[in-house]
Amino acid sequence: MEMIAEELPGLDARTLAQIFEHIETATVVATIERKIVCMNAAARSLFRYSAEEIYLQSTEVLYADKADFIALGKQRFHADANCTEEPYVVSYVSAAGDVFQGQTSGGPIKSSQGDTLFFVAMIQDESARIAAEETLNRLHSITSSRQLTFKERIQAILELGTVHFGLPIGIFSQISGDQYVIQQAVHPDDALEEGMKFDLGITYCSHVYQADDVQGFSHVSESAIATHPCFENFGLEAYLGAPVFVDGERYGTLNFSSVCPTRAFIRQDIEIIRLLAEWVGHEVAREHDLQALERAHYQMEELANTDKLTGLANRNCIEKALQDQLVYATKYQRSMVVAVLDFDHFKTINDRFGHQAGDEVLRCFGQLVSRLGRKGDFYGRWGGEEFIALFPDTDMSGVFIALERLMDNVRVAEPIDHYDGLKLSLSIGVTSLRDGDDPESIVRRADRLLYQAKASGRDQIQHD
Ligand code: GH3
Ligand code: MG
Ligand code: MG
Repeated sequence: MEMIAEELPGLDARTLAQIFEHIETATVVATIERKIVCMNAAARSLFRYSAEEIYLQSTEVLYADKADFIALGKQRFHADANCTEEPYVVSYVSAAGDVFQGQTSGGPIKSSQGDTLFFVAMIQDESARIAAEETLNRLHSITSSRQLTFKERIQAILELGTVHFGLPIGIFSQISGDQYVIQQAVHPDDALEEGMKFDLGITYCSHVYQADDVQGFSHVSESAIATHPCFENFGLEAYLGAPVFVDGERYGTLNFSSVCPTRAFIRQDIEIIRLLAEWVGHEVAREHDLQALERAHYQMEELANTDKLTGLANRNCIEKALQDQLVYATKYQRSMVVAVLDFDHFKTINDRFGHQAGDEVLRCFGQLVSRLGRKGDFYGRWGGEEFIALFPDTDMSGVFIALERLMDNVRVAEPIDHYDGLKLSLSIGVTSLRDGDDPESIVRRADRLLYQAKASGRDQIQHD
């Protein structure tokens, strides 16, 4: 210092050291050869050097990357540089080897004649802020991605947390009563799976639930909870967990842990896990809403396609099915059989037993078809007491077996045998798909055959 004081009368390094020593910002002063002559208390704590160790060392030792040292020498730290207010962020390295991002303001200190006397740099450790910013950006891109499914988004949030907190195990749990159930997890050895259950009491999450807030333990074996069953059972030294709420209701937790102790958690960690847990809650709520919408949509479709009285497909639906099956059968050269079924003397049933009885017969027919119909066959109410059946990919003998079984059951009509003297039978017209058929032509042909069945005495099948 003496040497510099003699060379530079007026403002010496010792004076500078006194000026900067107690200010809160880490400050480094160097000669125009970039040799450090002052590192204040805050800078010594940040860079982990003693005043003696660092004195007259090149500022190069502070940079994590030599290229930055060279580049900044050209931009700012040379004798002809001008003062600039604009801060920059650069990677520094401490004496302990920790690399951190420092937001830096600085440049030359000039004499009244304009000669550069020293360089000064004021540094703020920005690592935590930068890491938080990166995590928030990543969270934003995860939650706004339309490509990701619900599970993929939760997975991405879990992975994001493990990286941000440096805790390799991430769990999204659901808690009901005393039971802790893993919904999704990331684990370095894939040791955790969806559906695994634990007693809430043996998890650190019980603390989150008691406090209804974020809880963090960075070194359990040296803390007051060293005898915690979670430490005894799983050896987890570090834990950070937050409650997950879905639509205002407690749902479970989001937590990260490690078998190794970790650095002490800072306020930012608490805020970030709270935010991640909040997002997981939103995702679950959104998923519930989507499922409810899907159910509603499905119910609407069911309603739009179902005949209320019989529970079978309605005319609209069967027309669509007929059209689709026709396209399919034509394209793939498959067979298809269409049958038109009509109750015999239905008017008489209504007349003798009442309209109510007629309705009951139709309802009963719907149940019969649902019970007897084979998978892949398609029955629908065409109108009144007339029905259509589609048999894709089925030969005529198979169709006959199915229809005769149905006719037998209709004749017995067990569920409505309380109507004394009620006789039920069906007449059926059956036809196979031909080249050039459209839905109208095929139904028309089946209808003609049905008419023949009626004309030939009813209670029978006519086919071509
Ligand atoms: P056929 O053997 O020639 O078919 O004689 P049918 O009496 O069945 O004659 P048709 O098919 O022309 O008449 C159908 C009757 O079915 C007319 C109508 O009153 C009755 N019907 C149609 N839809 C319903 C319904 O939803 N409920 C009740 N109870 N009756 C219906
Ligand atoms: Mg009839
Ligand atoms: Mg009819």
